[in-house]
Amino acid sequence: MYAQVALPVSPRRLFTYEIPPDWKGPIEPGQRVVVPFGRRSLPGTVVGLQESAPKGVRVRRLGGSTGELPRLPREILELTRWAAEYYLVSWGAILEAAAPSQLYVRRRHSLWPGPVSGERRGLEGEILHAVRARPGLRPETLRRRFRSVDLKGALARLERKGLIVRREEWAVPQRRATPRKLDEPPVQAESATVDHASKPFTLTREQGAAVEKIDSAVEAARFEVFLLKGVTGSGKTEVYLEGVRRAMSLGRRALYLVPEIGLTPILAGRLQREFGDGLAVLHSGMGNRQRAEAWKRVMDGSAHLILGARSAVFAPVPDLGLIVVDEEHDPSYKQDDFPRYNGRDLAVVRARLAGVPIVLGSATPSLETVYRARAGKMQLLELKQRIDGRPLPEVQIVDMRRELGRGAGRGPVLSSTLIDSLRETVSNGAQAILLLNRRGYASFLLCRACGKVAHCRHCSVGLSLHRQEARMRCHYCGRVEPVAKCCPSCGGEDLAEGTEGTERLEEELKQALPGVGAVRLDSDTTKGRASFVAQALRAFEKGEVQILLGTQMVAKGHDFPNVTLVGVLCADQTLGFPDFRAAERTYQLIHQVSGRAGRGARPGRVIVQSFAPEHYAVRLGASQDYDAFFEKELAYRRGLRYPPFRVLVQLILSDRQAQRGFTRARQVSERVKRASGGDLCVLGPALAPLSKLRGQFRFQILIKGTSRRRLNRILTDVLENLETERFPLHALTVDVDPVTTL
Ligand code: ADP
Ligand code: ZN
Repeated sequence: MYAQVALPVSPRRLFTYEIPPDWKGPIEPGQRVVVPFGRRSLPGTVVGLQESAPKGVRVRRLGGSTGELPRLPREILELTRWAAEYYLVSWGAILEAAAPSQLYVRRRHSLWPGPVSGERRGLEGEILHAVRARPGLRPETLRRRFRSVDLKGALARLERKGLIVRREEWAVPQRRATPRKLDEPPVQAESATVDHASKPFTLTREQGAAVEKIDSAVEAARFEVFLLKGVTGSGKTEVYLEGVRRAMSLGRRALYLVPEIGLTPILAGRLQREFGDGLAVLHSGMGNRQRAEAWKRVMDGSAHLILGARSAVFAPVPDLGLIVVDEEHDPSYKQDDFPRYNGRDLAVVRARLAGVPIVLGSATPSLETVYRARAGKMQLLELKQRIDGRPLPEVQIVDMRRELGRGAGRGPVLSSTLIDSLRETVSNGAQAILLLNRRGYASFLLCRACGKVAHCRHCSVGLSLHRQEARMRCHYCGRVEPVAKCCPSCGGEDLAEGTEGTERLEEELKQALPGVGAVRLDSDTTKGRASFVAQALRAFEKGEVQILLGTQMVAKGHDFPNVTLVGVLCADQTLGFPDFRAAERTYQLIHQVSGRAGRGARPGRVIVQSFAPEHYAVRLGASQDYDAFFEKELAYRRGLRYPPFRVLVQLILSDRQAQRGFTRARQVSERVKRASGGDLCVLGPALAPLSKLRGQFRFQILIKGTSRRRLNRILTDVLENLETERFPLHALTVDVDPVTTL
């Protein structure tokens, strides 16, 4: 018997391996295996079995015993295969993203005497001696023995000369039983505000109607896509949970996707209290062991509700009954590096394969989703009222051009209107949220004499000023430099600060409202740690601080009933991005953060500071007028032939050498043009808006088509041909349905 194996390597094809006669246990499609590949070994997945081997190829045998490796269910095989074809990547790569091999195998290296005999002197001689004395020695042992810096180099030389050979093995780690815990300690029930009691509510009429529709699809185990479009504070979470409870009561399981788990510790705590050990949390930020534990509980069925970020769409949940995708518009559902899949869209495919309903929820659904709902491809469930008929907040837009006109020179970040409202809010015992979607102190330093900006050496962006740590930072590659005292170009000492960031806002806030507690939430204060985010959000929830300020992190679905004021600063800053989704992103951000105001008994107020107050994304975002925004934005997309009217694929060719990169990009675009026979609109190559990143020049090709199937077939052909011609495909990023075209 022979097995067809999908491997996470660039070739798009499958590989055939012979199943050894002494193979232990059954072998079926979905079985994870480790196979020899060239001089290495690789983790892979058996995707098919056949009686005979293909002619004229040397077929190798499946290696080792992999009896303890998991077997992926059929549903996941089908889902990943679909994803591989749709996103134009190898099946093996998607399988690796779906079930990362480091969750159940560890790679180990061992050193053996090589075929060449001979002696060496010095360090090399000592290593050689050690390996001959103990064949199979681990490099770590050597590293401990020789704390010399050049061990790696010496080993490489010995290997090159054939005096030593290195073998790679994959071992199944012995798992110690560890007490299961959530990524975050759950919120203690007593610390939660009384509005947050975790008992089921009496549903509102609108909630009830939505639940009824979802329930009937859950009961019938029928594939159906629901779009739950509910204004902010309309109680969408409760609708999802009713569906989850229904599925569970039928002995089925539910998958609940959120954009970023780290930003929803309060939801996680709530689910933990309600579902206890039945809850499993899955996301890529967890350590391997924690993740492997959670994965195991998902696979063996002991978890009934699986809460996770985008990669959880691949969780091997048996007996699925319902899928929920909260905040379906959120760009974090798109994986921003290889393989670039969209967790929300795959969730719909998964629901179809599993034959179960899926609920996509949002107050600001993406244009594509609403467009599909209008075309009858999903069922629209609307919640038009806030809970208890609470009003949407009152909105005021402050024109910063006028505000600054009054003072001299660079004005403050906070307008006097906003400061007055903050004072009033705090003195009333209420809380406020301030959004400024840029971290650091200022976006750049500009020389007033020559007009030059201090740039990152590796990227085509200015270095941001971080005053507290007294550094300049590149927000794209992370490069750190000391703060420039004078212009690097002309030596001028008069440096102007660029657009302000959260650090500057915090400083101004301290001066304007001394003694008022504020907590800042951005990736500088949280350092990427979920526990820091949870800490900040909990301090705010308990009322220990009155003001929560930060980047887009403060705009995510938080529910703090005591917030009566929301301030949006530099509301228009994302509008300037040369990206066809700039208006949609700006709109969503403003609408979402505005929706945090007035969710409790007291009415809310929103103050939006803007230099472009007349822009529809700003105006309509602040008044949370989704339908008006939708019409306007849709007309714009239609005019420029962007999604949802066209299928869009972005190709980025990266190269250290600009000329070579451009030549290769042109080669690719010519290919696509020729293959499409004029059917596709191929734009570029042109320098991408972010023209250089991490030292690589970036050339962009945008491909628009009317038929997904046709575009997909053409690109598959082109990529396959390029591959056979040994075109360096690793330099080419293929992004199907890009969420950004920067
Ligand atoms: P959304 O996600 O639509 O913005 P949430 O799901 O966060 O809104 O709900 C807003 C608030 O209303 C939450 O505090 C929630 O506990 C509460 N809530 C939801 N449904 C009801 C209900 N039927 N009766 C009373 N309160 C409710
Ligand atoms: Zn950089």
